[in-house]
Amino acid sequence: MAHDPNCVFCKIVAGSIPSKKVYEDEQVLAFHDIHPWAPVHVLVIPKEHVASLADVDDGHAPVLGRMLALAPKLMRDLGVKNGFRTVVNTGPDGGQEVYHLHMHVYGGPRPWAKG
Ligand code: AMP
Ligand code: ZN
Repeated sequence: MAHDPNCVFCKIVAGSIPSKKVYEDEQVLAFHDIHPWAPVHVLVIPKEHVASLADVDDGHAPVLGRMLALAPKLMRDLGVKNGFRTVVNTGPDGGQEVYHLHMHVYGGPRPWAKG
């Protein structure tokens, strides 16, 4: 499985940087974002190092499907009952800061929510 020794999320997968894990299987890991933007804010990542969504090919479809399918289960388990938002920032214009593919899942009222 591809691994980048300089990548912060690969270090989380390896356990050399701590994280608040909420789910793990052989292909994916989910943990709380260190700077949450919402009452519930988790990141879902493939354990394999993939830099961004711009780098995936058809072979990644199963793990991408697994990541997306995990979101509702995580939100249920974390007590989110009124919907949630899923976001994948990709590349410089997409506002990506960490270059290990990750999906944000936000639940609860968000700071930018209107009304
Ligand atoms: P993005 O802008 O989509 O690349 O978002 C990267 C996210 O990773 C940000 O929301 C950060 O707060 C989060 N993050 C960075 N380092 C860590 C870490 N060590 N543990 C948990 N979340 C992190
Ligand atoms: Zn990585």
